[in-house]
Amino acid sequence: MKQDEYYMGLAIEEAKKAESINEVPIGAVIVLDGEIIGAAHNLRETEQRSIAHAELLAIDEACKKVGSWRLENATLYVTLEPCPMCAGAIVLSRIKRVVYGARDPKGGCAGTLMNLLQDERFNHQVDVVTGILEEECSELLSTFFREIRKKKKQLKKRD
Ligand SMILES: [Zn+2]
Repeated sequence: MKQDEYYMGLAIEEAKKAESINEVPIGAVIVLDGEIIGAAHNLRETEQRSIAHAELLAIDEACKKVGSWRLENATLYVTLEPCPMCAGAIVLSRIKRVVYGARDPKGGCAGTLMNLLQDERFNHQVDVVTGILEEECSELLSTFFREIRKKKKQLKKRD
């Protein structure tokens, strides 16, 4: 869907903000009735908070904005597949739909390692769309980690 690509583009812009402050580039945007009600990027290092993931920060902002913990008709766009913590928060905030870019083989809980978003034992299931601007999303991450490895090598050479 064209719209999905548009909003994923905005999530990528968020991810780039994270990258610019040396955070792992992950960004999220929440949309309700065509309006952006939450937008955030990973701030784990900056804030030294293990829960400062893009999705959680965006959900928090969205709840404040609509004045409710229920985000029933909202769609969450995120550049990387949600981890168990964020997938849990997505289910608990009753988000209708999740669109993610890159799969996460080391932590993805929206279909890769497990699928917390669509487990029928929970009282809420989420529609999941994958692969929107996937290459761009994963390229952002692989470039980031490549640069880190390069910097580490250079530091070693200096010793
Ligand atoms: Zn997370």
